[in-house]
Amino acid sequence: MMQGMSPVSRTVTPALNLPETFAFSQSSLQAYEDCPRRFWLAYAEQLPWPAVEAEPVSEHEQLMRLGSTFHLLVQRAQIGLDPELLGAGLEPPLGDWFNAYLHHRPTDLPSDFFEVERILSMPFGVAATPLNGSGHAMAQTTPIYRLAAKYDLIAADQTGRVVIIDWKTARKRTDPANLRQRLQTIVYPYVLVEASAKLPWGPVQPEQVEMRYWFTAAPGQPVVFRYDRAQHEANHERLHHLLEEILAGQREVDFPTVYDTEINRKRFCSFCVYRSRCNRGVTAGNLDELADAEDFFAVDADTALEFTLDDVTELAF
Ligand code: SF4
Repeated sequence: MMQGMSPVSRTVTPALNLPETFAFSQSSLQAYEDCPRRFWLAYAEQLPWPAVEAEPVSEHEQLMRLGSTFHLLVQRAQIGLDPELLGAGLEPPLGDWFNAYLHHRPTDLPSDFFEVERILSMPFGVAATPLNGSGHAMAQTTPIYRLAAKYDLIAADQTGRVVIIDWKTARKRTDPANLRQRLQTIVYPYVLVEASAKLPWGPVQPEQVEMRYWFTAAPGQPVVFRYDRAQHEANHERLHHLLEEILAGQREVDFPTVYDTEINRKRFCSFCVYRSRCNRGVTAGNLDELADAEDFFAVDADTALEFTLDDVTELAF
């Protein structure tokens, strides 16, 4: 039985053949929602990335590297290492980002438990297996995939209050209305509630959860979303509907490209590694023209599966 009050996972008969260790995530689901072909190429075919995502390339790579380093610094500060030592001699803009964190770090977090860079997951979709020779319609169900989330920081206390923090290093603060619709905002609290029963600070009810985005570009203006049971049920429906749609596809043609409009080219294709394969232009988008950093698509560079088998074995249940 799931931790929230949502109904159990729906039974699906997958046509799509994904690797056994595949774990769905906010980024793979978002890839599907933005452009089904992108999901097919990145996760079903696991195609290497034939084009750079953004120009200038060196600046883009530099920002990606700095973003990772910032996460590492904050992670160390959150577990109690001396911020002065951590912040000494940082290159720009890392020094400014870290200073912003030190001056505007959240001070109202629950403080009994801190989970840093924690991965949680839950069964996602079940397949029906008929029971032996009974001739009845009864069947047992087996989970077929997992839905996983990797959290920058989870802060919890004995009363069950939980705050999820996601550190963002993009150039601009994302519009809260856009952020509200993103799969990250759906998946993170949903998985946390569902996977919380076996954690030391669980189980957690939806009303006890808050999702907070913190921006280096606007450190005094975090975006905060409260969670509740109605959202949890709506999220359950949305996520399982997405899963059913994805698993119903079998071939490339079942995963259409996003409509070829000027807006979609600018928003999705120009920052997508597959644009030459899709004949959607040869030049990478310029980072200065990226309206919303959340639209940027980057598959985990190490693996298209995003979570390795080792990660999966340490998941909550
Ligand atoms: S280039 Fe455009 S159409 Fe092709 S996968 Fe990327 S977003 Fe989709």
